[in-house]
Amino acid sequence: MRLSDLYPPKPHKPIEPAQPARAAAASDGPARARRVFLLSATAAAAAVAAGLVPRLMRPALAADNRHGSASERFEVAYSDAEWRRRLTPGQYEILRQEGTERPYSSPLNDEHRAGTFACAGCAQPLFSSRTKFDSHTGWPSFWTPLDKAVGTHRDTTFGMVRTEVHCSRCGGHLGHVFDDGPKPTGLRYCMNGLAMTFHPQAA
Ligand SMILES: [Zn+2]
Repeated sequence: MRLSDLYPPKPHKPIEPAQPARAAAASDGPARARRVFLLSATAAAAAVAAGLVPRLMRPALAADNRHGSASERFEVAYSDAEWRRRLTPGQYEILRQEGTERPYSSPLNDEHRAGTFACAGCAQPLFSSRTKFDSHTGWPSFWTPLDKAVGTHRDTTFGMVRTEVHCSRCGGHLGHVFDDGPKPTGLRYCMNGLAMTFHPQAA
């Protein structure tokens, strides 16, 4: 009997513990990153629910909601920092954070001249004054957008199911569309005036 039969070599022994360790290390990076993300998202949601976060501090949640339900890519795309630089704080809150302005706060609510309402984010024409009507809601309202000017997605925030409306060129949030509008479409595009600029028709 050889000594090696009594004490068989175990060539893999020193290696084996290292393999699971390496595997764990390799998968731990993304896993840990995910955990940190989930924790911070949960903490943010809890803070919002508790009313601890002011309206202007809600961008992450609004952005997550938008990106989760829409896979659209937009012709005009800037970094968040660039959008902040290009827009006023009020425009940024609505266009990029899906905020809502106070009713009757926008001068565009009382804009009755002939012309075009364009996106305040990228200047794409969105609505014609010919489709504007007084919805008595305090927000500029239209019964149809210009052709291919807007996109929509399902919005389930605040415990409601609504159809969100955004600019098809830059993705900027504009408002919501409801089915209680006037003829001929029966639709009411309820828009934030801050999300738009008005361009009177040349005389
Ligand atoms: Zn736009």
